[in-house]
Amino acid sequence: MINMILSFIMYCIKGAGVFLWPEVCPFCGNVSRRGICDCCRKTLDALKIKNPKCMQCGKPVRFPEQEYCYDCMHAAHLYDRGLGLWIHREPVNQSIYQFKYHNQRRFCKYYAEEIIRAYCHVIKKWDPDLILPIPLHRRRRKERGYNQAALISREIGRLLGIPVDEKSLVRSIYTDPQKRLGRGDRKRNLNQVFALKKDFLPVPVILLVDDIYTTGSTIDAAAGVLKKKGVEKVYFLTISIGQGY
Ligand SMILES: [Zn+2]
Ligand SMILES: [Zn+2]
Repeated sequence: MINMILSFIMYCIKGAGVFLWPEVCPFCGNVSRRGICDCCRKTLDALKIKNPKCMQCGKPVRFPEQEYCYDCMHAAHLYDRGLGLWIHREPVNQSIYQFKYHNQRRFCKYYAEEIIRAYCHVIKKWDPDLILPIPLHRRRRKERGYNQAALISREIGRLLGIPVDEKSLVRSIYTDPQKRLGRGDRKRNLNQVFALKKDFLPVPVILLVDDIYTTGSTIDAAAGVLKKKGVEKVYFLTISIGQGY
């Protein structure tokens, strides 16, 4: 009888623990009070983008003496330099998907902490005056309820004491997610996709934040409007880098 009571009490304590600390690993969904679980931590270490990296977009390159990746050797970017944290593979891709489309807003805290742990010294060297998240179109933001890039920006800004401006850069074109655009349409779209609010006052250095970097066309489009307004340097940080390299 005493055993039964004791096991019932233990059951309640455990239940309360889960209730009080319902922390789950943002990468596998298992309960983990420390956030990222040990198993995922190991996988993430393997997915972390290590040196040698492209001097411009931060994608991994094959040889240490190779300064730029194939893409950056053949296309001029409008931004100056940037870095992604992980390669966009399992479980990073799944985690970002949950973060973006399934309201897992709290994941931003882990992403920001990991970005800072890896790149704090680089961010300090870049010394940005302002962090700008890549914006969603107003309509998309309304549908989703939040802009995932803004959540990560806020966390990075808060942890490093850098101001975040979520208002000045706007996405002026709504792209229907169901509609597949041809190459020409996409290019045309990106040329006018971002705009700056009239009251935006340019600062020398801006850090753009987004969830994924693939071809760089989004970051370039944003950097283009900023530089046109007089911003001198535009850097970027993303959680992951797509596999298109
Ligand atoms: Zn995990
Ligand atoms: Zn590159």
